[in-house]
Amino acid sequence: GLFGVPELSCPEGFQQAQDKALQESEQLVQKACSIPPGPETVMIFDQLSDGLCRVADLADFVRIAHPDFAFREAAEEACRSIGTMVEKLNTDVDLCQSLRRLLSDEIVMSSLDPETRRVAELFMFDFEISGIHLDEEKRKKAVNLNVRILDLCNEFLTATHLPNKIDKHVLPEHIRYNFTAEGNYLQVAGLHADCPDDLVREAAYKIFLYPNAEQLSRLEELLASRNSLAQLVGYDTFAHRALQGTMAKNPETVRQFLEKLSDQLSKRTQKDFEMMTKMKMKLNPQNSKLMPWDHPYYSGVLRAERYNIDPGLYCPFFSLGACMEGLNSLFSQLLGISLYAEQTQRGEVWSEDVRKLAVVHETEGLLGYIYCDFFQRPDKPHQDCHFTVRGGRLRENGEYQLPVVVLMLSLPHSTRAAPTLLSPGMMENLFHEMGHAMHSMLGRTRYQHVTGTRCPTDFAEVPSILMEYFANDYRVVNQFARHYKTGQPLPKNMVSRLCESKKVCAAADMQLQVFYAALDQIYHGKHPLKKSTTEILKDTQEKVYGLPYVPNTAWQLRFSHLVGYGAKYYSYLMSRAVASMVWKQCFAQDPFDRAMGERYRREMLAHGGGKEPILMVQG
Ligand SMILES: [Zn+2]
Repeated sequence: GLFGVPELSCPEGFQQAQDKALQESEQLVQKACSIPPGPETVMIFDQLSDGLCRVADLADFVRIAHPDFAFREAAEEACRSIGTMVEKLNTDVDLCQSLRRLLSDEIVMSSLDPETRRVAELFMFDFEISGIHLDEEKRKKAVNLNVRILDLCNEFLTATHLPNKIDKHVLPEHIRYNFTAEGNYLQVAGLHADCPDDLVREAAYKIFLYPNAEQLSRLEELLASRNSLAQLVGYDTFAHRALQGTMAKNPETVRQFLEKLSDQLSKRTQKDFEMMTKMKMKLNPQNSKLMPWDHPYYSGVLRAERYNIDPGLYCPFFSLGACMEGLNSLFSQLLGISLYAEQTQRGEVWSEDVRKLAVVHETEGLLGYIYCDFFQRPDKPHQDCHFTVRGGRLRENGEYQLPVVVLMLSLPHSTRAAPTLLSPGMMENLFHEMGHAMHSMLGRTRYQHVTGTRCPTDFAEVPSILMEYFANDYRVVNQFARHYKTGQPLPKNMVSRLCESKKVCAAADMQLQVFYAALDQIYHGKHPLKKSTTEILKDTQEKVYGLPYVPNTAWQLRFSHLVGYGAKYYSYLMSRAVASMVWKQCFAQDPFDRAMGERYRREMLAHGGGKEPILMVQG
């Protein structure tokens, strides 16, 4: 069956797997409630979580990626029923009581190792979010708020992608063909950010971002509900709650981080905007004021003008085989780890082009498995992604449960004439996702609750972004980039051109991200908000970004990450800052330094989410 799980040889198997998991979980709940508080309590909680996650995480992947609808549907159902069970457990007073007894027993707690203590606290945190420590009335309120928030999130998310319609006569005739016609209306489904025609981008921006009253009230209710829930369970704001346990720890640190970043960027951002303005003046002298819809387009023009980085020039040097060889060689030099292709059993994979890699350490042996689902196929989502299918943990019998992950990319298939060739961007993404996979493989945590990438959001991207630095280093690239026909290495000046091109307008691009992150913080900060979300957007945009706010637009209504990253949108920036520091201090001098590789593994990767992230960074 799928991933070697015997039941999952057919869609119906999900029902069996799910029933088995639910049954086991009930037994474990009883056990947890009946034993005296001690390290075993945490062990049982983790076992409980593992049994449910092993089905839910696997199903979560299958429902997205399986080509067979029946499998997707069965997996969806399994996700739902496990999700319901998890909610039930998170509000189970007896179960919570068993953990609380442990946490309040100072003598037992002080005898536990730091990882076990942290995991116990993390489990408690899950209980608290559902308001379990509240009296009956408040708990009911918390449950209702949770339900309402979930609905609002789904509705908001859906509406962020919906097109806006406009009477076609409003637009000049010569640009109408850019949009989908529907009778007398035109549909504007996005920002058309790369369109060379300034007028098309302007029209798309103003129409696509035109405020929708329903979506506006949805957002306001979502933010207010999140705030109420956070306050109900004892936090000042939603941001305070969301940031507990992260690297940043609290909104104040995030604010300082973003401010500092913004200060350091501001001069360079100004320069970038000046360059873009000059370019706009050259191409469109009548109307040269730089507007928000110009930023992505003109930075692209500048990049292309300065450096010829046509992907077609680079692709032949980045065959998939060469890139994988490069990763293998890098990991073996840095960490003593090799990747071996392993034969799969019948029914183990969901598409015949999926490859299974065994990750093997030179002395420790097999560390885990990576399933590489790299190729495009109909219905497969177009996202590069890392999925944890099974977390690593120490089993009761002393064996280590090996982690299993999937890496999903959308690469073209090979043809008769050429192998799969990656653009520089795809190559960088492959390295990035492989960074997540290595985090999963090398996190040797006792508990799966904190396995590999199950760590604070603002730390999660550190290992993957660090891999991007390797992907852009000539010494690394030179080891594997070979022309697939001639075997010729990628010329050094082409690598430096690529790296230089990334610096063009990089400050302005990052400034935009700082603006989004700042907006996310304010929205999830002190309530009631001082102004409307649109006025806050306007103020923040002018203060933090620099390009003018455009009246009658409301970009925040398209800010889909507010749902999944509420109060944590800064995470990517902070991860990047840490990754950059790690690169400079540990690998910039010698990207193959084994001693540094070992130190990096020991201090950062090995702990997954089992150690306070800031301590890992200090290490
Ligand atoms: Zn990532």
